[in-house]
Amino acid sequence: MNLTSAIACEGLSKRYKDVVALNDLTLSVPYGAIFGFLGRNGAGKTTTMRLLAGLAIPSAGRAWIAGRETTQTASGSANSLARTQFGYLPQDPAFYTWMSAREYLDYIGQIQGLAPDERKRQIAELLDLSDLKDAAKRRIGGFSGGMLQRLGIAQALIGHPPVLLLDEPTSALDPAGRREVLDMIARLQGQTTVFLSSHILTDIERVCDTLAVLHKGQLILVSGRDELLEKYAVNAAEIEFDTPADALMPLLETLRALPWVASLTQDGATLRLLVHDLARAKQELLPLIVAHHLPLNRYAWVRPTLEEIFLQLSTS
Ligand code: ATP
Repeated sequence: MNLTSAIACEGLSKRYKDVVALNDLTLSVPYGAIFGFLGRNGAGKTTTMRLLAGLAIPSAGRAWIAGRETTQTASGSANSLARTQFGYLPQDPAFYTWMSAREYLDYIGQIQGLAPDERKRQIAELLDLSDLKDAAKRRIGGFSGGMLQRLGIAQALIGHPPVLLLDEPTSALDPAGRREVLDMIARLQGQTTVFLSSHILTDIERVCDTLAVLHKGQLILVSGRDELLEKYAVNAAEIEFDTPADALMPLLETLRALPWVASLTQDGATLRLLVHDLARAKQELLPLIVAHHLPLNRYAWVRPTLEEIFLQLSTS
């Protein structure tokens, strides 16, 4: 069953007393995909990862990785061989901070029973892939957040598992750290199937070819990245005024009455609009602002946020 998917689950559910952390998740991830698993804090991403990895017992459902069942039961894992089929990086990985990066990778290789020559070969390859060659002899304790996550991904790749589960590897990082980690993940394309969770749409967009959206434990969308971007193309305007917020009232009233305005939010002197008709909005919005004699700091057309996509999904 599910021999053709890198990752598969059927009816996977997890309930903690009265909290339904994950409800009836059925999903199939093809080999070679870089699959983005998107959801807000508390959506159930970590729960899903842990169920897929056989680290938690589901309330219902089953999971497979590379054709081997990973479902954990009260009497143990369904298939101990399954553990060799994937690498897993938890959301808050712990490292032995006194070790160097090379020592740490060697230690993980030893735990996995790799022969010294094989460890040496894989460590050289992984230090290269993670761009940590120059830091190989440095103590992990001095690493930046981005370096730690890249080392975490490298350790998860020891033994060349066909599947990699990465739980929010970018969420605690600054933009530079995030870019480095995403670049490393992009380098895995074609070698390893990656299942990557995040609450940051732009991160998922950058590296994933397919994505799923989880909302309050419920799968609400699975889509190719390009299809989603096409569907949710740039249709939001962000306008920052150089005026007190009160001065925007007349403009807000005018905008609310327009048929092409889908939604309107105000945060101080900044307005954000979602529009139904982009061409018309691009023609009419700026003249309207000018007609209200409002001084502008910034005017930009951007993609909808994850929040706005969620809203559109839950109302469509
Ligand atoms: P985050 O990005 O904040 O880690 P997440 O999408 O990974 O969020 P989960 O950690 O899977 O979400 O949590 C999903 C829901 O299950 C939340 O409501 C959470 O409070 C609840 N939950 C998770 N683990 C437990 C637990 N051990 N006991 C009780 N409730 C839990």
